[in-house]
Formats: sequence, C-alpha cells, structure tokens
Amino acid sequence: AAELQIRNLHAQVEGDEKPILRGVNLTIRQGEVHALMGPNGSGKSTLANVLMGNPTYEVTDGEIIFDGKDLLEMEPDERSRAGLFLAFQYPVSIPGVTLANFLRHAVNARLKDDDPDTKGMPIPQFTRMMRDKMDMLGIDHSFAARYLNEGFSGGEKKRAEVMQMAVLEPKITVLDETDSGLDIDALRIVAEGVSKLTGPSMGALVITHYQRMLNYIKPDYVHVMFQGQIVESGGPELALQLEENGYDWIREKYSVAQ
Ligand code: ADP
Ligand code: MG
Ligand code: MG
Repeated sequence: AAELQIRNLHAQVEGDEKPILRGVNLTIRQGEVHALMGPNGSGKSTLANVLMGNPTYEVTDGEIIFDGKDLLEMEPDERSRAGLFLAFQYPVSIPGVTLANFLRHAVNARLKDDDPDTKGMPIPQFTRMMRDKMDMLGIDHSFAARYLNEGFSGGEKKRAEVMQMAVLEPKITVLDETDSGLDIDALRIVAEGVSKLTGPSMGALVITHYQRMLNYIKPDYVHVMFQGQIVESGGPELALQLEENGYDWIREKYSVAQ
C-alpha cells in the first residue's frame, strides 16, 4: 500500500522570515481517512499547498515521501501521475469540451505516461468505466455530455471534480475545504463522493475547519493543527469534542509566544 509520509516539515512563504509550518509529522496510508482540523491561520492550507507543489511556499526543513519517492523533488503533474490527487486543483472551463472528453483525456494522459506508444483506452471501454463510476456515485449519465463548467452550478462543479477523482483512481486524495462559502449541497456532494471512493485502494487527507464535513466522511483519524504543528491526534471522537467545545482549549493548552 502507498504511504504519504510527512516528516518534520517546516515551511514558510518564499522570501519571508516567519515560519508557518513548524515541524509537521503525519503518515497517511492508502485506505485510511485522516481529517485535519484546526483554527483559522494554523497552517492547514499551507500544508495542502506544499503537498501540491505551490511555488509560493518554501520548505526549509523536513521531507515528504510518497510511495517511496521524494515528493518535494517532483513537479505538480508528476505528483498527480504518481497517484496523489489534490482536490481540486483544476477548476477549469474549456469551451466546447464535454466532461466525458475531458475525463478521457485525463485517463489517456496517465496511460501514455506509462507507455508512450499506447493509443489510450478504447472509447467503449472508457465509456463503460465512466458509467460504472457514475452509477457508483449516483450521478446521471447525461451529465457526461455537458460542456465542462459551462453554466455549472457550484454543486455540478463539485460533481465534475469528484468524477475526475473517480476515473483517475488516486492512491491518496488531499481535499482542502478552502471554500468556506461552499453551500451545503455542494459540500454534501463532495463529501459523499469522497466517502464512496475511499476504501482499500484510496486514502484521504480531509482538511476542514468545521465538523460538518465529517458528518459525511467518517475519518479513521482526526488531527488538530495549531501554530504550524499537529498538537492532538485521535479518533472520530476528537472531531465531536471540537464541535462541542471549539478550539479554545487547544489555544489554552498549546499557545506559545511566536
Ligand atoms: P489555515 O488554512 O489553517 O487557515 P493557512 O495555511 O491559510 O492556515 O495560513 C497559516 C498562516 O500563514 C496564516 O498566518 C497566514 O496568514 C499565513 N500565510 C499563508 N499563506 C500566506 C501567503 N501566501 N502570504 C502571506 N502569509 C500567508
Ligand atoms: Mg484559513
Ligand atoms: Mg485554510
């Protein structure tokens, strides 16, 4: 099983003095669902950005090993081909391209990477595979014929992204609920999709400020980030405790002068 190992990770904004991540340790195995929670400004999105290779951030210490390889040496597209899915890094709108064509292109690009001479997946096989995934996710087949992101509602955009995840079959998905404005319907679509796709072959890191996401995605492990470190780890009960008591007790217990 693939593993994403984050060891003693230190990171900051490139060219800045102030450390944001100050020694993060976290291991996620294929098949495990981890929730990362924590108050605003604690560094959760910075961790997601470092994982996806956003050049705004500079890693100053530590390492990230994915499936035995040094993730920090890999370009963002290599990370994706290696089986790390950063949701949702491609909120693209491509005029005149249907969702089905977009997904087929993504799958074939992946196959060509392994074998440059391949002609890609035959269309009937791809269509069958895509429809199987749509059935599993409860998405109507007609959705595949829609033009990508053209006139999509927030919920439909999320549905398209979940479809992308489904056909690419990543080993580990990282999902940052950055969009606090995500309406409850869109949130449910994402969360239910992720929870259907996680299983023995996919693990997930679900980053969320609020417990509500975890009503749909049942995490195996819950971690709390505060001031750039993971300060508490536990099971699902930790998320419930945070919902009930908020983050004040975390601040009281772990605040250090910076
Ligand atoms: P979270 O996702 O937990 O709310 P972030 O990772 O977004 O936290 O932010 C952590 C800290 O790093 C905050 O103090 C934030 O202001 C700072 N930070 C993050 N990204 C940048 C950036 N691009 N430029 C300046 N400061 C940043
Ligand atoms: Mg924030
Ligand atoms: Mg954030």
